[in-house]
Amino acid sequence: MVQATNLGFPRIGGQRETKKQVESYWAGKITEQALDEGAVKLRAENWKLQKAQGLSQIPSGDFSFYDHVLDHSVMFNVIPQRFRHLADGHERTFAIGRGIQKPATETQEKVDIEAQEMKKWFDTNYHYIVPEFENEQTFHLDAQVKTVQEFKEAKALGIHTRPVVLGPLTFLLLGKTAKNSPGLEVLTLLPKLLPVYEELFAKLAEAGADWIQVDEPCLALDLTPAVVEHYRSVYTRLTAAAPSIKFLIATYFGRIGDNVSFIKDSGVAGLHIDLVRSPEQLESVVANLNKTQVLSLGLIDGRNIWKTNLANALKIAKTAVEALGSERIFVAPSCSLLHTPVTLRFEKRLASKNPELFDWLAYSEEKCKEVHIIAQALNHGVESVQAELADNARSIEARRTSSHTTNSAVRERLEAIVPDQLRRRSAFPERQAKQHEAHPLPAFPTTTIGSFPQTKEIRLARSKFTKGEIDAAAYNDFIKQEIAYCVKEQEKLNLDVLVHGEAERNDMVAYFGERLEGYIFSENGWIASYGSRCVRPPIIFGDVHRVNPMTITETVYAQSLTSKFMKGMLTGPVTCLQWSFVRDDIPRSVVCTQLAFAIRDEVVDLEKAGIVHIQVDEPAIREGLPLRAVDFDFYLQWAVDAFLLSTTGVQDTTVIHTHMCYSDFQDIFQAIRRMDADVLTIENSKSDMRILGAFSTHGYNAEIGPGVFDIHSPRVPSTSEMKERADAMLKYIPRRNLWINPDCGLKTRGWKEVRESLTNMVAVAEALRAST
Ligand code: GLN
Ligand code: ZN
Repeated sequence: MVQATNLGFPRIGGQRETKKQVESYWAGKITEQALDEGAVKLRAENWKLQKAQGLSQIPSGDFSFYDHVLDHSVMFNVIPQRFRHLADGHERTFAIGRGIQKPATETQEKVDIEAQEMKKWFDTNYHYIVPEFENEQTFHLDAQVKTVQEFKEAKALGIHTRPVVLGPLTFLLLGKTAKNSPGLEVLTLLPKLLPVYEELFAKLAEAGADWIQVDEPCLALDLTPAVVEHYRSVYTRLTAAAPSIKFLIATYFGRIGDNVSFIKDSGVAGLHIDLVRSPEQLESVVANLNKTQVLSLGLIDGRNIWKTNLANALKIAKTAVEALGSERIFVAPSCSLLHTPVTLRFEKRLASKNPELFDWLAYSEEKCKEVHIIAQALNHGVESVQAELADNARSIEARRTSSHTTNSAVRERLEAIVPDQLRRRSAFPERQAKQHEAHPLPAFPTTTIGSFPQTKEIRLARSKFTKGEIDAAAYNDFIKQEIAYCVKEQEKLNLDVLVHGEAERNDMVAYFGERLEGYIFSENGWIASYGSRCVRPPIIFGDVHRVNPMTITETVYAQSLTSKFMKGMLTGPVTCLQWSFVRDDIPRSVVCTQLAFAIRDEVVDLEKAGIVHIQVDEPAIREGLPLRAVDFDFYLQWAVDAFLLSTTGVQDTTVIHTHMCYSDFQDIFQAIRRMDADVLTIENSKSDMRILGAFSTHGYNAEIGPGVFDIHSPRVPSTSEMKERADAMLKYIPRRNLWINPDCGLKTRGWKEVRESLTNMVAVAEALRAST
């Protein structure tokens, strides 16, 4: 029998219950006990729901209040030094995720511990808390052993689950080394770590587990033969130590490639592969299994919201069944459903207002059902699910032939792209000379990244407007006042290139999505982003194009209030793509090019309206980089082309800025150079001068503003510390090219600290000018 299985279910709750409870707990509104009770209830609901959809192997241990990698670190006692004095429990786990700050009291000194670093989970927009290892690292199971506890919890409900555990190699490879342990090779910790895994597996076996899912997404990366050898020895050892357990190694987000070589003799009972990202890998993986190993087929897209073409999926599954036999096949989503919203049940508005599009969607609950239908068809013949398959085929066909997804004018425009649309008129040095002459600025020009504090008042006005409590005229007046305030403040601060402050935007992608054709918005399509934070990515369902200008009114109004330069502020095509749910019926590169045209039109209109500085943000360009080096060039080619298409429609004298953050720039220097922006502002608060060194050795010669202060913290940086940073930057960047700006937008900060920080920042530029 083919098994219908799942790798992980979203833990946020169908109506973001977990988020709400966690935040109430932080605010002191509910007790720890109430928080735990809420989680018990939600887990039970999720298990029952998956069972009701017909799954036979349901995951447990996939729940988390904050982050599953953090939970795993805590379970294995990997607690960064600075948190070790705190008592274990939720408080400490949250403290590691968020940091803690408590003012001094009569009896206690003040507490101020910085949060542990957070990173993007592979190529997703989910962020995990980076485990931190040290030379003297000790591992042991904590008192709770969450994975065992949750397995038992499900068992008590009569649901036999497949516990999910983060695999030892991915755990170590995703970690970083503590400051006190420079040069530590994390994999040398394996001998100390593995006994604890053995203990965990023994406990799970004792509790009654038979299959255990071990997540090893690092197997989708380029690994050295030495690391693959570690995989072989680690799994040979772990499987030998737990003979009653069947281990399923789960890979996802890409192909396993040659890393599959260790599987055959490793003792593991099965392997999960992502056949949505990498359908072509089926044959080679099948050839690399031994005679008994199970193959779990990731056929349902765990990263997107579209219904699966069940006929196609079934075809692939049948090939696998023919090769291996039905006893050796699992059907599953491509990865954990963590990256998909929970259920369509609460998507009421779409269902009633846009039934055509609603019919094309499947969230996690519906995806579990799809898994079941495929397994049924394989086990009992297509007749057993004829109605379901027919319904699916109808819906797939309706989407394929819908007149709402294609726009011939957009398609023709894409067909007609010429190389000149991908380059500026002159090369940077010539542009720079013209720009400096036409629009002079002081040396070390100061600017900000775009957003200013999104105050309570702004959020309240927006919410009133959305609810219809105030009309458009009143809301627009309010926004104008906010813009005017923001401009006035920047003039007082004596910044050189001003911004309008982005008060009218609640989200840098959704704002544009709402103004473009081809986008639609869900009501409840939330997915976890980090900690308790969820995002609701807009949905690109059709050809994207711009009908009306999107930012001209606000920008021109802001410019009218000042004689200084007003910088226009747009989100770039790659970031719009990366932070949306994207249609899967045409290549991502094509969608990105459509977005690029829309932004290009806006850039040109801004220029026409007299705006000289235009910033096109691309914070997500690095995030879209494929997992394997051989695939980098293809992606970077179209991604950078899209940026170029969006920014090169202007005169030489117009200054194009771009901004990037959250990134390791290591792999993309050439691409950044090819983006050919006149000014690049980047996150650099950790004052990592190596990055700047690398920029200069890679021949980056345009203007650059590496952030001189971290906007993620309410701390006000002093002029001297920022000046020190700027001085260090000048070792790598010629004076004429250095801008002075913060790391990123200021929307999460308060006005008081923003004013103080920027006052100090402007003083840095003045000091630099004076010292020549
Ligand atoms: N212009 C945006 C802002 O300042 C950029 C945000 C970002 O880089 N994430 O908010
Ligand atoms: Zn940023």
